[in-house]
Amino acid sequence: MSSSPEYDATTPLARELADLTRRRLALSTDPLPAPDHTRVITVSNQKGGVGKTTTTVNLAAALARSSAKVLVIDLDPQGNASTAIGVEHRAETASVYDVIVGDGAMADVVQQSPEFPTLFCVPATIHLAGAEIELVSLVAREQRLRTALDAYLSETEAAGERFDYVFIDCPPSLGLLTINAFVAAQEVLIPIQCEYYALEGLSQLLRNIQLIEKHLNPKLAVSSILLTMYDGRTNLAQQVVADVREHFPKEALKTLIPRSVRISEAPGYGQTVISYDTNSPGSLSYLEAAAELARRGAPQ
Ligand code: ATP
Ligand code: MG
Repeated sequence: MSSSPEYDATTPLARELADLTRRRLALSTDPLPAPDHTRVITVSNQKGGVGKTTTTVNLAAALARSSAKVLVIDLDPQGNASTAIGVEHRAETASVYDVIVGDGAMADVVQQSPEFPTLFCVPATIHLAGAEIELVSLVAREQRLRTALDAYLSETEAAGERFDYVFIDCPPSLGLLTINAFVAAQEVLIPIQCEYYALEGLSQLLRNIQLIEKHLNPKLAVSSILLTMYDGRTNLAQQVVADVREHFPKEALKTLIPRSVRISEAPGYGQTVISYDTNSPGSLSYLEAAAELARRGAPQ
C-alpha cells in the first residue's frame, strides 16, 4: 500500500509534529507544585544578549499560566522585561527607580500583566540608567532592593496574597544594580548561550556570587543554569552543552531552549512567547524549563 509523503509518519515533519504533541500532553498532565515559601530568583550573567530577559519573562509567564503568583522585577535600564510583559514604562511611569533610589513603596509601582492575571511586574524606565551612580552615595546601597521587596512580600503575605515566585532581571554588568539583585534573592539562575565564548566570564560571575554570599547574603546559591539559543545542528552547541553539564551536573537544567524566531518576535508584540505562540517549540521549552524549576524546588 502506498501512502503520500505528507502522511508518512517517518518524514521529519511528521516526527516533529508527533514530538510536539507528545510534549504538549506531557505538560498538561500533572499540575506544578507550589513552593512552600516565596522563591526569589535573580537571573544574571554579565555577558550581554545571552537570554536573561527572555528567560525571566518566559519562565515567569509559564509559571503564571499554571496559576502561580509571580512577580518580575525589571532591574535593567533597557526596560526589556517591562516591554515583553506589556506593562507601561515611559519615562514618567512609577518604576523600580522610585523604589531603590527614592523611598517609594513597591506596592505603588507594581503593574499587572495584560496577558496573565497572576503575573505582575515592577517596571524599569530610563531613569534607572543613572541609578548605578546615584546609589553609590546612598545609605545601605547594596540592600535597597531587599528592604523594599521584603516589605512588599510581608504585606502581600499578611493579606493572604503570597507570591510564589519573584524573578529579577539583571542588566549585563556586575555593578550595584546586580549586587542589589543578589542581595535580595535566595537563588541565582544563570542563562548561558550555546556559543563559543559561553563559559568565558563565568568564573568571574561565580566569584562575585561567592563574595556576596560571604559578606552580604549567606542564603544566596546558584540553583539553576539554563542553556539558551541552542541549535542542535552545530557541533559547537553540542560541545557547550556537554561542557556545562560536566562542570555543573547539579545546576544545569535538562531542558534546552532552542534558537527560535517565535521567541525573538514575541517582545515586538508586547508579549511573552507563552501567550504569543503557546504551542511553538520555543514556548514548550520554556514551559518545560519552568516545570523543571518548580519540581526541583528551592535548593536546601
Ligand atoms: P542584555 O544583556 O542586553 O540584557 P539579555 O541577556 O537579556 O540581553 P535577551 O534580550 O533575552 O538577552 O536576548 C538577546 C536577543 O536574543 C533578543 O533579541 C532576543 O529576542 C533574542 N533571543 C533570546 N533567546 C532567543 C532564542 N531562544 N531564540 C532566538 N532568539 C532569542
Ligand atoms: Mg536583558
